[in-house]
Amino acid sequence: MKTVRTAADLGALPGSGSVGLVPTMGAFHEGHLSLLRAARAENDVVVASLFVNPAQFAPGEDLERYPRDEDRDSRLAEEVGVDVLFAPAVEEIYPPGFQTWVDVEQLGGILEGEHRPGHFRAVATVCLKLFNLAQPDRAYFGQKDAQQVAVVRRMVRDLALPVEIRVCPTVRDEDGLALSSRNAYLTPEQREAALALPRALQAHDRALLDGLDVDYFELADFEPRVLAGAVRVGGTRLIDNVVVEREPR
Ligand code: AMP
Repeated sequence: MKTVRTAADLGALPGSGSVGLVPTMGAFHEGHLSLLRAARAENDVVVASLFVNPAQFAPGEDLERYPRDEDRDSRLAEEVGVDVLFAPAVEEIYPPGFQTWVDVEQLGGILEGEHRPGHFRAVATVCLKLFNLAQPDRAYFGQKDAQQVAVVRRMVRDLALPVEIRVCPTVRDEDGLALSSRNAYLTPEQREAALALPRALQAHDRALLDGLDVDYFELADFEPRVLAGAVRVGGTRLIDNVVVEREPR
């Protein structure tokens, strides 16, 4: 595996066959690894990006304390067969004078977008930039972030980007909690409280969130349709969703 830090070096890699890109913010868990394995199975070359995108964190969010461990991520990426780890510095993605943004207006403004203004503008922009740099045939995203998938798909259609979006199922811990880099912030008591989110989603029963700080618990007409929720447990904000086949109670 080769670690590349500049856009120029990524662009200069010799091309040979299909490219699968897995955009990540690192702190790898089995959710990330499932995307990397899917990319490995379907492409000749697998590129994983490791970039904690400052623009997608609002002031007061967890940008500074977001878990970072490039050595561990690098080892895990190599183990699952990643060919290129793209780990750019912030200035590589946002060069001085940067002022061009992609805004998926309506889809990026609801649910998460309502509670994290500007979040999806930053997500869409960084994804477009990564697509331009890595030139992937396929890009891999997790159903865990269902709205992110919807936003990226919309951008790909609207701007006719030559990339296929592949979506992998949400990976959960044995207790049902969706894996997330942010789970590391939870104390054992908070983790127990956080289990209400997957349980409420599974049961389609908002009442199971009573006592928690709920940002939203709503049906979303993505493809597929999901029931999506976001809660705050202590200082940690968690999101999750389940695919919905029927009307919730
Ligand atoms: P992140 O590093 O949190 O930005 O996530 C990188 C990618 O991994 C995104 O496409 C996420 O949707 C995906 N991902 C994160 N957690 C999970 C999970 N528990 N199951 C499946 N995919 C996930």
